[in-house]
Amino acid sequence: MIVDARQVEGDLSADICVVGAGAAGIAVVLQFLAGRQDVLLMEAGGEDDEAETQALYGGEVADEKLHAPPVNYRRRAFGGSTAIWGGRCMPFDPIDFAQRPWMPGPGWPIGIEDVMPFYPAANAICEAGDFAYTAQAAFPGGMRPLLKGFAGRHFSDDTLERFSCPTDFGKRYRARIAQSRHVRLVLHANVTELRTGVDGSFVESLAVQTLTGRAFTVRARRVVLAMGGLEVPRLLLASRDRHARGIGNAHDQVGRNYMCHIAGSLGEVHVAGDARDHWHSYQVADDGVYCRRRFALRAQAQARLGVGNFVTRLHHPRIPDPAHRTGALSALMLAKPLISYEYSKRLHGEAALSLDAWAGHVRNVLLDPVDTARFLLHFLARRTLAARKFPTVIVRPKNGVYTLDFHSEQEANPQSRVALVAARDALGMQRIRVDWRYTQGDIRTVRVAAEALAADMAESGCARLSFDPQTVEACALRDGAYGGHHIGTARMATTAAQGVVDAQCRVHGIRNLYVAGSAVFPTSGQANPTLTIVALAVRLAETLKKDVLF
Ligand SMILES: Cc1cc2nc3c(=O)[nH]c(=O)nc-3n(C[C@H](O)[C@H](O)[C@H](O)COP(=O)(O)OP(=O)(O)OC[C@H]3O[C@@H](n4cnc5c(N)ncnc54)[C@H](O)[C@@H]3O)c2cc1C
Repeated sequence: MIVDARQVEGDLSADICVVGAGAAGIAVVLQFLAGRQDVLLMEAGGEDDEAETQALYGGEVADEKLHAPPVNYRRRAFGGSTAIWGGRCMPFDPIDFAQRPWMPGPGWPIGIEDVMPFYPAANAICEAGDFAYTAQAAFPGGMRPLLKGFAGRHFSDDTLERFSCPTDFGKRYRARIAQSRHVRLVLHANVTELRTGVDGSFVESLAVQTLTGRAFTVRARRVVLAMGGLEVPRLLLASRDRHARGIGNAHDQVGRNYMCHIAGSLGEVHVAGDARDHWHSYQVADDGVYCRRRFALRAQAQARLGVGNFVTRLHHPRIPDPAHRTGALSALMLAKPLISYEYSKRLHGEAALSLDAWAGHVRNVLLDPVDTARFLLHFLARRTLAARKFPTVIVRPKNGVYTLDFHSEQEANPQSRVALVAARDALGMQRIRVDWRYTQGDIRTVRVAAEALAADMAESGCARLSFDPQTVEACALRDGAYGGHHIGTARMATTAAQGVVDAQCRVHGIRNLYVAGSAVFPTSGQANPTLTIVALAVRLAETLKKDVLF
């Protein structure tokens, strides 16, 4: 059933109240569509974008060069940020859950075996096909080599990323939620405070407001916060009726250890052999899903080198520099004003392009009309118009020289944090300030991993990677924190002194309050977060189903 908070008369109650209808919240309620429990799904937005609602996400950043304003890279509407995500799916690796003495922070209190049973269901919910993340498993008949002859001591080349449609969870699961007799989706319902019972050990009610001025409360036996990695700490810190520092924050853990990923492009990869000997694009598996190989730093190499997790792909040259002489890439640069902030950010470069550079891009398009037209037609047919979209821009460099596109773990750092400021939004709720920080350990991971890959390529004799180690920090920070991955702000830990939620995602010290989403990840790994968010959400739903209270 779907209702609108602006028309709700009086207060509401349910067995379970889930706050936020993005990837995490929707994944939780999908497990209750036909159950015995009565579930409320409170969603701040409506079914479409609304500027006034989105403005509630506005806040401050310590340094806009390092982190985008919090109104960007997320969407406050039914479906949440899945309306704009890229759909790249992959599980966390076993080493991400292992105790790693060379990395800071306590790490995960659970093992990969606790999450693995839920990944296939998560893959299905994300519409990423079979849970098959190696070339052998996904392509029993064989897959094209990334680099023919590559055999790495440090890196493997047989793990895959798979792509969701990308599925907009709101659009995809709307009908099932609307038809359910057990789940009520309440739109335009902004939860602005959690109120605790007499001894502060449980959430007694939730305060809800609409932008039209209506206010009511919700009572539920169990509450799940699924509002994304920036909004979960905001609500916990803003709920201070019996917890002076905010709920779950007795040890000043809420909002700390904020991680994204360290991502960018670096170096030059000169490939030996002819065009048939390397393939940096996608292949479609039997289940119709786009898959792509990448180089992944092996677990043993991470331990030996004392670095975090790291993956990298062969990539086209940096688009803003017209020296690539590739019409398709220049056409993208010229189309920049038509591309959304999130997807054009990497086209901006550090400074405004010079007139010469713009002229260079126009020249590239004019001198390369056939390939440019072919690329644009492919983009239109296979991406813009297709139901399952060709995932990213893939262009073979004209000069045969690739760059490395890397996605690297960011380590936990208590100084990197999300906190409240005095400024308030239109509902009177304090806004956030994001002070995202990286460490020299993060930069070292990228540099050492790139050096290890250069050694692997040289030993294999199939390619030559060159890069200037002095430029790694600038390459890693050119675009700032990798947008949209908001991790670690209510991390999972065995004790309240080390984190915010326990191994069951329950807030330490609050017996009926849970968190779903990447806020609970104590480490960021190399993987994009959503598949693991959804797996943990399904796991949390199983925990709630077994709850003796129901
Ligand atoms: C441009 C972009 C590309 C991305 N690409 C990828 C990718 O390729 N692969 C990947 O794994 N991840 C990707 N992501 C990240 C992915 O979108 C998120 O990991 C995922 O959406 C997080 O799910 P969530 O449910 O935790 O949060 P969200 O999807 O952000 O949902 C939170 C929901 O809570 C609601 N809400 C917020 N506050 C309140 C409140 N106070 N009361 C009630 N409701 C509230 C919001 O309206 C929203 O619906 C990308 C993100 C962006 C922005």
